[in-house]
Amino acid sequence: MAAFRAIISYTDMNHREKAVLQRGMNFRLHPQYSVILMSVRKNAPYHDQWHEDRGLLEYEGHDEPRRPGTDPKRADQPMRYTGGSLAENGMFYEAAIAYKQGHSPPEVVHVYEKIANGIWSDRGTFELIDACTKQVEGRKVFRFFMRPIQVTSTAEPILRQTRMIPTSVKVEVWRRDGGRCVICQSNKNLHFDHDVPFSKGGSSVTAANVRLLCAKHNLQKGSKVQSLLPFLLAISGGLASRAAG
Ligand SMILES: [Zn+2]
Repeated sequence: MAAFRAIISYTDMNHREKAVLQRGMNFRLHPQYSVILMSVRKNAPYHDQWHEDRGLLEYEGHDEPRRPGTDPKRADQPMRYTGGSLAENGMFYEAAIAYKQGHSPPEVVHVYEKIANGIWSDRGTFELIDACTKQVEGRKVFRFFMRPIQVTSTAEPILRQTRMIPTSVKVEVWRRDGGRCVICQSNKNLHFDHDVPFSKGGSSVTAANVRLLCAKHNLQKGSKVQSLLPFLLAISGGLASRAAG
């Protein structure tokens, strides 16, 4: 469901994944796929980023666990734990390399993006297609590259449309509508709804023609949805660490 980029609570996210998600990287959380949590907040401790033109996600690996007397931000990001077993970095890395070398299909990864404290955006399902390590400020960091799995033919128009609503408008709409569907007041499965459908030439320049709708009312309306994109950075706390919350 590439088009389904709902806003969900932390509780909903856990319910959906049947897990208590506390780490950013969750290799093979389920037999069929992995789960990552990410943030592109300006002050986020990890440098995740969207390459929106290709829909590509560049995701940073995790630091060493915090221990007394150490600074995880100065140490190499671990491939393995001290006991020798692969860290999450190592598991994702080996999966990416196996795919690149033609030994296995790409790892399927479901991505959630933190919008604000307790509020997450379901970014959909991706394939892990590449990984590398880089020297950054004197230490080794991992980078992972994921591309969206194209599930429906509507994915592309929605991606394009998503960029049409400026961040400032999204923030204004979110605040004006109080983070709830304007029809039923639900705060679940919200989307930005463009009052004049993009296909009919609607402009999204002002908050006046953008509103929050739940999935049900958005479907009833029958127009394309606007996902709540990382705008939300403006109102968000972001990830304090590679941890949920
Ligand atoms: Zn509603």
